[in-house]
Amino acid sequence: MRSLRLKLILGSLLLLAAVILAFDVFIYVARRRALMEVLDGRLYSGTQSIALRLEIDSGRPVFDPADEAEPQPDPPRRFRITDDRGRIVSQSPAPGGPAWPPASTTPPNPRWTTTGSGREAWRIATWVHRFDIDTEAAEEEPARPGMPVSAVIQCAEPLAGTTEEMRELASLLAIVSLAAFLIAGGGSFLLAGRALRPVRRINEALADVSETRLDGRLNPASFDVELHPLIGQLNAALDRLEKGFRRERQFTADASHELRTPVAAILSSIEVLLRRPRTERELVEAHEDNLRTARTMQAVIEGLLLLARMDAGKSRPEKESVPLAGLVEDLLAASGAEAEKRGVARGHDIDPELRVPADPAQLRLALVNLIDNAIRYNKRGGSLAVHARREGAVFVIEVRDTGIGIPAEHLPRIFERFYRVDPSRAEATGGSGLGLSIVRKIVEAHGGGVSASSSGDGSVFTVVLPAD
Ligand code: ADP
Repeated sequence: MRSLRLKLILGSLLLLAAVILAFDVFIYVARRRALMEVLDGRLYSGTQSIALRLEIDSGRPVFDPADEAEPQPDPPRRFRITDDRGRIVSQSPAPGGPAWPPASTTPPNPRWTTTGSGREAWRIATWVHRFDIDTEAAEEEPARPGMPVSAVIQCAEPLAGTTEEMRELASLLAIVSLAAFLIAGGGSFLLAGRALRPVRRINEALADVSETRLDGRLNPASFDVELHPLIGQLNAALDRLEKGFRRERQFTADASHELRTPVAAILSSIEVLLRRPRTERELVEAHEDNLRTARTMQAVIEGLLLLARMDAGKSRPEKESVPLAGLVEDLLAASGAEAEKRGVARGHDIDPELRVPADPAQLRLALVNLIDNAIRYNKRGGSLAVHARREGAVFVIEVRDTGIGIPAEHLPRIFERFYRVDPSRAEATGGSGLGLSIVRKIVEAHGGGVSASSSGDGSVFTVVLPAD
């Protein structure tokens, strides 16, 4: 299971362990180097104090440990002096000692060696002492061929003390580091809990929000400033959700109302019809009325189904290159009966070559609705005209009429579902109230847009479709 708290704790502990380890290694190495420097310093001065007491006597280097003439610090407890042929001149009397490395006369000078391991580990300094043949001593004892010119002084000290101290330091560091790690681990556990508290609060606040109680909002002031953008986004999402639910409820209420009215009309018409015997003429008229009402209901239901399919993304446009002039001519011809009944003249000025990339059935439906409206909301003796042109990367199709127009305050809402400027007129002309919302849905599914404008002389509906 993924846990943010666990990740925070593990992350901080890992970082802490790395820092502590680096710190420990640094302290350990620095301390060890300091101890070794002190030890090496002691061994070096040991070699020098021996060198000062070395003389040449009878052609051989001689070491006088108790040379009082030049008081020097005591030589180290372990030393060995060899001449340049490898013969031992002198060595410390103390028992035990290191396995001396070869008395090499090659640089570096001094040479440092560590031998043995554990309790038997030794640090050894090897110093090659060259006799100065120009000194007074040399005058007394003039240089002869075969006389030694150098001696090798080796001093040693056991490393056990240093190793012991380093071991103690290591255990101290381990204890302190473990304690720091545990304290910090506990701290990061608590801190992670604290850091995640706002998440729990957001969770609790959101748990209160339900379909029927969508008005709850989180107050950014009661959260840390880093969380304000998140709270803002959550509140905005709740706003959208609330609006969506409200729209949905309104839509369901509108749809029920749209269907209830015609059903009630049909029922009452049948009830009235059945009250007494009717003439054939009365029956025909009543049936014609009911048929009209039922057709309106059918238009509403089909419109709703189409919108529901498009809302669910099930009716994606399948684009083809549609010859627009031919399509518009068909539609104008099909609307002939209705237009002639209302005395509305129709026309278009579309280039016969103009082809629009669109789903033919959907484009037809959108244009049918616009042309249908341009006839239904026209004045007697008025006209409608369809224009189309390509403008750069888009096609612009306009349906203009000389009808009753749309008051400016209604323009922003006419594309909403079931919105009507004048409900009584819409009822009289048999509109479903869904025509323009279907137009908008189709055009937007094509990646375009639709708008309306209106003046005293009628209305213009402009559809813009992308050319690719
Ligand atoms: P309806 O079925 O009521 O016509 P629409 O969605 O097609 O539904 O149109 C919504 C409203 O917009 C109509 O009721 C009408 O008031 C107004 N309208 C649409 N087209 C026109 C037009 N060409 N001229 C004037 N008003 C229009």
